[in-house]
Amino acid sequence: MLAVLTGIPGTGKTTTARRALEILKGQNVEYEMITYGDIMFELAKSRNLVKDRDEMRKLIPEKQKEIQKHAAKKISVMSAAKNVLVDTHCTISTPRGYLPGLPEWVLAELKPNVFILVEAKPEEIALRRQFDKTRQRDGEMTDEIRMHQELNRSIAMAYSVYSGCTVNIIQNPQGRLEEAAKRMSEILR
Ligand code: ATP
Ligand code: MG
Repeated sequence: MLAVLTGIPGTGKTTTARRALEILKGQNVEYEMITYGDIMFELAKSRNLVKDRDEMRKLIPEKQKEIQKHAAKKISVMSAAKNVLVDTHCTISTPRGYLPGLPEWVLAELKPNVFILVEAKPEEIALRRQFDKTRQRDGEMTDEIRMHQELNRSIAMAYSVYSGCTVNIIQNPQGRLEEAAKRMSEILR
């Protein structure tokens, strides 16, 4: 099983997923959680293209695309032997506009079974980003957060058209992580 986990930054996808995987472990269902960006970095590093993460963004777009595709293939192979949950982004907000996190050439290699989109209220996301000092996140205003989440719903269905994956939207309201994690564990089981 290959499940893709997305949600805009600060929505709580990593926290919810960690808890969901704990619940599943208690039910003897094992998952490996991986981050798409980590796989890309490892591949680029092994090919001596970069030494640290910051250099990834400086690679020419063609190289980035090639590594992105290679990572999809690698993850797809991993998922043949075990359950894999890939933490990634549905769309990426750039100064020039939004980019799909899973363009067609990635979906063709990855072939996910399940697509999960974690959502929260824009006001809550804005607050979480403000208070989570462990991370550096770009500051998006509440209206932008709302629009970004709406856009992700649309593109999630487009991903489904390309890959045949099912799409699940999980709400992660403030202080109700356990409910969100339980819902996620049910989808992944
Ligand atoms: P990124 O895309 O940047 O990795 P993320 O979606 O993985 O972000 P997390 O790092 O999981 O987000 O969570 C962001 C912050 O919100 C963390 O401080 C986390 O503890 C908090 N948080 C997550 N879910 C909830 C919740 N239901 N209630 C309260 N706080 C939450
Ligand atoms: Mg995260």
